[in-house]
Amino acid sequence: MPSPDGMLSTEERQRIADAMQTRFTNAICPWCSSPNWEVGLVMATTTPVGPGGTTNLNGKIMPQVTLVSPCGYIASFSAAMMGITI
Ligand SMILES: [Zn+2]
Repeated sequence: MPSPDGMLSTEERQRIADAMQTRFTNAICPWCSSPNWEVGLVMATTTPVGPGGTTNLNGKIMPQVTLVSPCGYIASFSAAMMGITI
């Protein structure tokens, strides 16, 4: 579980890196073609859409972890699928 400010621990970041290496052996950035990705420092989320297209701040969230390419491109993945729970 990430810390209250959303920071992932070193162990969690390693778990994500291991999961990604198992799933994707040749992950190339679609923008700069680099194979070098860094696991993002924090867990991110999307929020559900509320009535009339508003942001539903009381709804469920979709926790995500990120990989960051050297060019700055960010790829998001389901935290649960990477073994990270909240
Ligand atoms: Zn890139």
